[in-house]
Amino acid sequence: MKELEDRIRRDGTIKPGNVLKVDAFLNHQCDVALFDAMGAHWAQLFAGRQIDKILTIEASGIGIACVAARHFGNVPVVFAKKTQSINLDGDQYVSSIYSFTKQREYPVIVAKRFLQAGEHVLLIDDFLAKGNALHGLIDICKHAGVIVEGIGIAIEKGFQEGGSKLRKEGYDVKSLAIVEKMDADTGNIEFATTD
Ligand code: 5GP
Repeated sequence: MKELEDRIRRDGTIKPGNVLKVDAFLNHQCDVALFDAMGAHWAQLFAGRQIDKILTIEASGIGIACVAARHFGNVPVVFAKKTQSINLDGDQYVSSIYSFTKQREYPVIVAKRFLQAGEHVLLIDDFLAKGNALHGLIDICKHAGVIVEGIGIAIEKGFQEGGSKLRKEGYDVKSLAIVEKMDADTGNIEFATTD
């Protein structure tokens, strides 16, 4: 998606450890018009699919998933929580994820009542790197008996293994921008061709 690639080139910065910082429009300040265009693009890419619900992870997934839902017939958005709280009552699905950016394990939690067996779910997240976050969500989906209809990613780091793993496992992963190479010294970013 050219608009997203242009924005990454313009406002993204490359941090040590292969981290792309995009807090000017995605991870801290949110560009809602861009989110809307991203939602429209995912709706095109997943046209004809049955999507009953969108599942994402807090925090950065929530904004993009909610705007995307407007393009999927206002389906409900469920976001997995990363911490236990007294507001999280009832039975829960819990999985564990290793965070690339935080370099530690954390839980992902979804209340059982928000995922019904047989529902068709679209997974959405801001970044795909090693695939740990998505595998945590997929684990929850398997336990819930929901069908993962597709995976919509804003920015995939194609030089890390998450995307190829998930595609090999048979998941339909649609990333709006795939970073093939990024150089912290020059600031140069190269993208792979996307749908
Ligand atoms: P994975 O689990 O695929 O290794 O990483 C995905 C999660 O880590 C995303 O949800 C995102 O929050 C975070 N992440 C991974 N790589 C980056 C990056 O380069 N930049 C930012 N901003 N977040 C990242």
